Amino acid sequence: MNKVSLCGASVVMLLTLAGCAQNAEQQATDQLNQQSVMALNWFQQSGEYQALAYQAFNFATLAFDNAPSLTGKPKAVVVDLDETMIDNSAYSAWQVKAGKPFADDTWSRWTQARQATAIPGAVSFAQYVNSHGGTMFYVSNRSKNDYAATVENLQRLGFPGVNQKTVRLSSDSSNKQTRFDAIKAEGYNVVLYIGDNLNDFGGATWHQGNPQRRSFVSQNHRLFGTQFIILPNPLYGDWESGLADGYNKLSSQQKLQTRAANLKAWDGK
Ligand SMILES: [Mg+2]
Repeated sequence: MNKVSLCGASVVMLLTLAGCAQNAEQQATDQLNQQSVMALNWFQQSGEYQALAYQAFNFATLAFDNAPSLTGKPKAVVVDLDETMIDNSAYSAWQVKAGKPFADDTWSRWTQARQATAIPGAVSFAQYVNSHGGTMFYVSNRSKNDYAATVENLQRLGFPGVNQKTVRLSSDSSNKQTRFDAIKAEGYNVVLYIGDNLNDFGGATWHQGNPQRRSFVSQNHRLFGTQFIILPNPLYGDWESGLADGYNKLSSQQKLQTRAANLKAWDGK
């Protein structure tokens, strides 16, 4: 074999190796998505999910009514949007079918489509608050580029008081504490936070690993059901990135390994 054909063979080998690596990564992405199928089935089809959502908003109504009033400070309820008040599971199901990882551009296309549906009990709860002297604040980490589409989607679903004052999307940080503080500084008595992610209850767990996140919950366990109301979300969340440092920057293959390494398993004996 002369030098030219040797060189050509090396290029072909390199291209083949690159192709294999790409293939392995796509297979791992598909496998990650496949791991969501049962969670999606539960979220979209089970009466149990529906019941948990109603339970959350029934508790929220009681907690709102029981919260003491402060003179001169109107009551407010701060809620997250995605998988708290609105259901985006069709986007996750699309990821499975299309073999795609989460990406900002496809997520934005989904939000622009304004097809999110209401979580069971969410609209009635929001209407209850706004018709009983409270103000709903919708604090979400959706991008400001998707502001108009988000507002329109919420209004179409019947959420009340959806406007420039009450809808607060991500500005410079996904840590919601600054936005929570701003609402309080405007004179509101925030009596209740509702979310599907611990970050919806303050900045204490922002960018923290799962041990710290669990410790926050243990320390504040009395607040759940009275000041904090949580909705179940097995599809995604910061609990997933809490599995390892730098999780979001891992390849699909590394994410698969990390997920498996985090299982607490019986030894079979
Ligand atoms: Mg959410």
